[in-house]
Amino acid sequence: MIASVLPTYNRAPLTFVSGQGCWLTEADGRRFLDLGAGIAVNALGHAHPALVKALSDQAAQLWHVSNLYRIPQQQALADALVEATFADTVFFTNSGTETCELAVKMARKYWFEKGDAERIEIIAFDGSFHGRSSAGIAAAGSEKMTKGFGPTLPGFTHLPFGDHEALRAAISDRTAAVLVEPVQGEGGIRPLPDACLKGLRDLCDETGALLILDEVQCGMGRTGKLFAHEWAGIEPDIMMVAKGIGGGFPLGALLATESAASGMTAGTHGSTYGGNPLGCAVGLEVMRHVADPELLAEVNRKAGLLRQKLEGLVAAHPAVFDHVRGAGLMLGIVCKAPNTDVVQAGYDQQVLTVPAADNVVRLLPPLTITDDEIDAAVARLDTAAASLA
Ligand SMILES: *Cc1c(COP(=O)(O)O)cnc(C)c1O
Repeated sequence: MIASVLPTYNRAPLTFVSGQGCWLTEADGRRFLDLGAGIAVNALGHAHPALVKALSDQAAQLWHVSNLYRIPQQQALADALVEATFADTVFFTNSGTETCELAVKMARKYWFEKGDAERIEIIAFDGSFHGRSSAGIAAAGSEKMTKGFGPTLPGFTHLPFGDHEALRAAISDRTAAVLVEPVQGEGGIRPLPDACLKGLRDLCDETGALLILDEVQCGMGRTGKLFAHEWAGIEPDIMMVAKGIGGGFPLGALLATESAASGMTAGTHGSTYGGNPLGCAVGLEVMRHVADPELLAEVNRKAGLLRQKLEGLVAAHPAVFDHVRGAGLMLGIVCKAPNTDVVQAGYDQQVLTVPAADNVVRLLPPLTITDDEIDAAVARLDTAAASLA
């Protein structure tokens, strides 16, 4: 008999009942060090007092009114995002994949309004992940994601990640947009070199194609800048944001320049829940913390510390680990042992990590992790690795 929860996940037999900072408490009382942060979502850790306050204050006031009316919390969060980024305008969603839907719609509408209705092609990359909606799986393109769900949404071309010559050959006056993650998350924590991102921007400028960055996982302070593309000194036309922006409350945002968004006039898109007062009250509080240069400086310092300790861990267990890659507090250990065994061994040592493609174990701790917690995390991973040898 089918499980009452649709069985699309292979869940670990762990049930967490409460959380505090980087720690989760299991129903049996064991405390786990959380280096997954709900897949880069709990950017400020669990039960951050300021987020709890923002949510409960708003919950006592007003939850939902719909986008038929003005929503001051939504306005304030949009203003904060516009202030802090390249963007001129923001649309709020409840998830990452909804931002992919809108990004694709926006890019196609842009060309439609320019009188080029045939210009619908989106170039995306192997190993990418953009969520599970029809546009998201078409954008990722992998058989794993699309098989059995046909017909796949047309108009997507897939190129090898980071292959500039392939992109130069493929980009044309049919290309509406190029869609890329500055650091692939699900694909195995694969950062796109800054030079590639710059080259990509140049190719888009030469051809007029819009540049869509998916910063759902790598954004919101994760790499030590508010958004990962800032390292390359370039700006996108459209950017997808979710995960960390709600700090655990379901929230996403699609950011765009005025030009890229020019086709999206009243009535062309919508969402019942997107940008509701609850989500935006929390998102605004998350922004206050994550956009703070002091927090970002700390992310960079702690990222250096964690990376250095992980290099030592890898060197100490050459049969288990291969090497470390990633950016900021978005780190991947490429494993020699099966990554799922490493994650499982971590569970036994009460440390949570997340598997990714390419036999990678992902570390996406809360940005608020302390030096002592980094020490404790690496010590637990060390014991876990030893148990596998
Ligand atoms: C998680 C993720 C998504 C999808 O977000 P959902 O909230 O699960 O829909 C899209 N893109 C990237 C890069 C992601 O990591």
